Amino acid sequence: MTVTITPAATGSGAPALGEPLAVEYGNTWHAVRGTRGGLHDALATPETLAAWLVEHGGRFPEGVADAALAGLRAEDLPRWTALRDAIRTVEQAVVTGTAPDADALATVNTAAAAAPRVPRLVLDADGRLTAVEVADPHPHAALAALAASAIDVFGGPQAAALRACEGPGCVLFYVRNHPRRGWCSPGCGNRARVARYHERHKG
Ligand SMILES: [Zn+2]
Repeated sequence: MTVTITPAATGSGAPALGEPLAVEYGNTWHAVRGTRGGLHDALATPETLAAWLVEHGGRFPEGVADAALAGLRAEDLPRWTALRDAIRTVEQAVVTGTAPDADALATVNTAAAAAPRVPRLVLDADGRLTAVEVADPHPHAALAALAASAIDVFGGPQAAALRACEGPGCVLFYVRNHPRRGWCSPGCGNRARVARYHERHKG
């Protein structure tokens, strides 16, 4: 029996920083502000995963997030968290210049192969040519899209700009899109400045 998962009314709780989709997905493991070292898994339940898919649905190829939501089953959750954890493993390897775990790469590549994607050249609403990706409305097409984003980001020129945020307690990754950007978000920049101030004035 297929049970339709209701997205959590409180939302996923994950940050939305406008990062490439795979990086945004990796950031579903994040610090909770206002707590000391508290970390939060936005994929802790199928309901919060569903909320994340609703929040980021517009970033997926047409129809893909809806298909994922319609086909989402509680027993699929480990598959989703495994891809997120693999993405974070690869991110950690990229930012530290080390070789990622072979299992993490295999998880990304298996997810990418789960649903076929076809690039198409179409006219947009303003009559301009635009490239879109058409994916089967397959329940796993969203996982495949996340994995494809990971392959694109970590296997391409953006990998050199991937950073781990150095904000106090922050575990997020971001693509440094301009040279003065030092943190995932202005909030982390402020927290880092405050922490440095207290460090200097200690004792
Ligand atoms: Zn941060």
